[in-house]
Amino acid sequence: MDDYALVLNAGSSSLKFCVFQRLSEKDWQVASRGQIEGIGTAPRLSAKDARGVVLAGNSLDATVSDGHAAIDALASWLRSKWHGAHVLGIGHRVVHGGMRYGQPVLVTRQILSHLYEVVPLAPLHQPYNLAAIDAVFERMPDVPQIACFDTGFHSGHSQVADLIPLPRNICKSGLQRYGFHGLSYEYIASVLPEVAPEIAKGRVIVAHLGSGASLCALNDGKSVDSTLGFTALDGLCMGTRPGALDPGVVLYLFQSLELTAKEVETMLYKQSGLLGISGISNDMRDLLGRSEPEAQLAVDYFVYRAAKEIGALTAVLGGIDGLVFTAGIGENSPEIRRRICEASSWLGVDLDPQANVSGVSRISTAQSKVSAWVVPTNEELMIARHTWSLLGLMQPVS
Ligand code: AMP
Repeated sequence: MDDYALVLNAGSSSLKFCVFQRLSEKDWQVASRGQIEGIGTAPRLSAKDARGVVLAGNSLDATVSDGHAAIDALASWLRSKWHGAHVLGIGHRVVHGGMRYGQPVLVTRQILSHLYEVVPLAPLHQPYNLAAIDAVFERMPDVPQIACFDTGFHSGHSQVADLIPLPRNICKSGLQRYGFHGLSYEYIASVLPEVAPEIAKGRVIVAHLGSGASLCALNDGKSVDSTLGFTALDGLCMGTRPGALDPGVVLYLFQSLELTAKEVETMLYKQSGLLGISGISNDMRDLLGRSEPEAQLAVDYFVYRAAKEIGALTAVLGGIDGLVFTAGIGENSPEIRRRICEASSWLGVDLDPQANVSGVSRISTAQSKVSAWVVPTNEELMIARHTWSLLGLMQPVS
């Protein structure tokens, strides 16, 4: 079969992609995973196959300066590799579904225009996610496109969990907590019955710790609360975002420092968090390797906030059975996992130091009252599953 499905995750300077090849009615396999990075500066295409064999690793023409040009570059590379391939559908990561959209949807021009309305709620991601959909509409109008939302998995929260306590007439236009990283949490919830069957039906806190970071409280695999809210600024300290702030700070920036809305937006989305505290880097790996007190303070704050919010979500759940780490930091940093687990020992988390550095899934001792786990996330596969499902294509067995 020469049928393929594509998953795209378009950001401000990168276009990540995953190519799935259909092997039979119900089996798909990853044909390639890669990205175009440095869009607008020094564009470069890299791609590997499922076994890690390099398929591409080359600079691109400097004209690849925006999302539309990146789609063109990707399409021409795909054509050169899989000549005559039939693309059955394209699944997109879209950060914010707003009030209208929770579950994945087949995108129409009208839906796209609704999604553009919520750009101010996710200025770091949404415009780029939508530009990729727009570019595909222009170039391949017959290929069905599915938008999968990071907010969707949280749409079953109770009213009280999602409430923003401002005047009612202000809130009715959609001012509520939404929650993000939903595709990651949905994937984790889908694999827990296999990876960690003893906690899958219980009360679990999943820590998605990457450049963006949040926690999700799961009860029986369903999201009941999350640390991200109306926008992706709330909750934990992130690479360049501060996490929860006293709203009076924002008033101070406007009223006393007389910053413009654009300046405040840039500060909140791009200059704060680990980067703001350290003045050195937004990258956890860099900070862990540095001895400057500012770098150490940034890491201390990251751990402090995560432990504090784990306590808060434990209260929401009425106790916890398991703690799961995922995403770049959660999957790859034994040190951050150790520090968060130690700060959560009062809950009954007893880390097994050897397991924590061994690359195994369960990293708590056998006696630990609350078990701790490392589970790699796979947002692309989650998007692909939704895409197959919405297009009526058979899902793979695993
Ligand atoms: P993500 O956004 O999920 O790709 O995660 C990116 C974050 O993961 C960055 O802050 C990286 O520094 C961090 N990261 C990746 N590998 C490691 C590692 N081995 N140790 C510490 N942090 C890491």
